[in-house]
Amino acid sequence: MEKIKEFPNKHIVFFDFDNTITTKDVLDGVIERFSKDDGWLRLEEKWKAGRIGSKECLEGQIKGLRATRKKLDDHLQTVKIDPHFKRLIEFLNSKNIKTMILSDNFDYILKRILKNNKINRVKIYANKLSMSNDRVKPSFPYSNADCGDCGHCKNTTLLKNVAEGATSVYIGDGMSDVCVSKSADILFAKGYLKRHCEDKDIAHIPFKGLKDVYAYFKRSLL
Ligand SMILES: [Mg+2]
Ligand SMILES: [Zn+2]
Repeated sequence: MEKIKEFPNKHIVFFDFDNTITTKDVLDGVIERFSKDDGWLRLEEKWKAGRIGSKECLEGQIKGLRATRKKLDDHLQTVKIDPHFKRLIEFLNSKNIKTMILSDNFDYILKRILKNNKINRVKIYANKLSMSNDRVKPSFPYSNADCGDCGHCKNTTLLKNVAEGATSVYIGDGMSDVCVSKSADILFAKGYLKRHCEDKDIAHIPFKGLKDVYAYFKRSLL
């Protein structure tokens, strides 16, 4: 393996959130738990079949939620994160490597979970939620009409944040990571994303958990 001896800080590391930092898909869990009826299932099927983009799917699913902030917070308290995430972030910070989370989930949910797990100093780009009583409203400040499919177009956000000459690292697992997978210089993939990369011959490093990513950086950053 090539060692990154000089300028490790020219790297920037991007994480997906659901199923990459967390051990389950948090947003799926929220939608299953708080949807007022099963309308969300039909949207999910359409999205998985590629008939609608994630933005249209999420917009409908979030509007169908009925949850007070308190109930949502209680639910989010049960979410578990990969035990190696914190160690990995601290290690990258100690090497002056910037870290960011790019998520097609929602900012409120991410912030809450990170706070519950005493993790700070990671920049978040995600869709936005506003709540009043038990109604929840989504907005998508990072969508990109040219890409079309994404609620949060992670590819657009990644490209905006990678300075000239810097090396981007992306770590993810799912359908929402497909659009960014072609741009990352170093791509860690598992699950759906790994199968997609295999099908499309996209160079990637397979991983099972963040322990593997931590080991990679420990070996490659002197
Ligand atoms: Mg994911
Ligand atoms: Zn996109």
